[in-house]
Amino acid sequence: MAHIVILGAGYAGLGAARKLAKIAPAGTQIDLIDRNTKHVESIELYQVAAGTAKADEISFDIRSVLPDNVNFIQADVSKLDYENKTVEFSNHEPMTYDFVVVGLGFRSENFGMEGADQYSYKLQDIPTAEKIYEVINDNIRNYKQSQDPNDLNIVVCGAGFTGIELLGELIDTAKILKAKYDVPEINITSVEMAPQILPMFDADLAQYAVDFLSKNGIKIMTGAKIKKIEPNAVVYTKGDSDEEQRIYSNSIIWTVGVSGSDVIKESGFNARRNRVTVTDYLNVEDHPDIYVIGDDSASMDPKTDRPLPTTGQLALAQASVAAENIAADLENKPQQKFSYQSKGTIASLGPSHGIAEITKPHLKLKGSVASLAKRFSFEQVLFEVGGLKGLRKK
Ligand code: NAD
Repeated sequence: MAHIVILGAGYAGLGAARKLAKIAPAGTQIDLIDRNTKHVESIELYQVAAGTAKADEISFDIRSVLPDNVNFIQADVSKLDYENKTVEFSNHEPMTYDFVVVGLGFRSENFGMEGADQYSYKLQDIPTAEKIYEVINDNIRNYKQSQDPNDLNIVVCGAGFTGIELLGELIDTAKILKAKYDVPEINITSVEMAPQILPMFDADLAQYAVDFLSKNGIKIMTGAKIKKIEPNAVVYTKGDSDEEQRIYSNSIIWTVGVSGSDVIKESGFNARRNRVTVTDYLNVEDHPDIYVIGDDSASMDPKTDRPLPTTGQLALAQASVAAENIAADLENKPQQKFSYQSKGTIASLGPSHGIAEITKPHLKLKGSVASLAKRFSFEQVLFEVGGLKGLRKK
């Protein structure tokens, strides 16, 4: 009987495992592998970084949502040996496969920036998110003793989705910690290279986000290109000028972008930022038994001829089609091409505000109604990855 090995239990891998459990021919062996026993709702990680959610609130036990015909194995994948159809691990015996689904997710990318790894705090998983809150909290608590103004300065590098959602969430955190430790004003600054933030939204929605964050005391610096990170400072240049400027802080957070898993590089795939360009069927050219989905994949958008932006929503859509194509292959049925229509884009600005652009019907939402839309779409995601049990974990 066929053996399907699914690597990673994020949105992509967990989605594929649950779908294959329903549609793979009876007797197929389905193994789901992850280094952790918990699935993490990575789109909510910023809340743990801001201290507004605990790790348990954004994660649940993988085994608890798996059907009986999926076997979970806790192991750390190191490499895919595709010539020998084998997965290698750092802490487990190698495993052969008939089909493998790679969904090992993302990691923070430093783009070779000097000082980024040493002097700033990246956001990529539960431990790094918890570390960010610990640093912010410790520095603010420390202020009374140190009288170091840098203890009250928080700088978020990069104002992509992650940076913006973290900034929004930090508004409340700053208020709470200011009162708790009885310190002067806490300053939060965003340093972004692009001339405008949130270019994926309509201009009026992006402007709403800028106004909302500014009104709540956040300083957004656009057109500011980070050059290096020093022990207590972000060094940047503004516009066309080469003059280096510094913004000082003891809490420097790095949300400047992500790459796919390093397993992609270790395995020798042809990839850019650890993202493999997949075929229309979501498998790898010359290796039809390897499917790559989620943040490790680059699915081309025929409309723009560029890879679709990675999101949890995209990973779940790919998971479903990859599972169907493997099942079709096992039954000698025709496979389907992946075609994607985003349901919309939502960014939260703290717990009760946000901006949203829904695709069909085309709707633009801002404020608390967008936050409600995000809540609703998050429940849908939980249902897709964990079924009713996933929903009850909340
Ligand atoms: P990103 O690549 O989306 O954003 C990084 C930001 O950093 C960009 O705005 C970029 O201009 C800026 N930047 C890069 N180099 C810089 C420099 N030297 N100086 C100053 N600024 C610089 O990365 P992200 O925000 O970490 O998001 C990662 C992925 O996850 C993205 O694909 C994103 O769409 C996705 N995501 C989606 C959601 C959502 O759909 N709600 C939420 C979180 C993340």
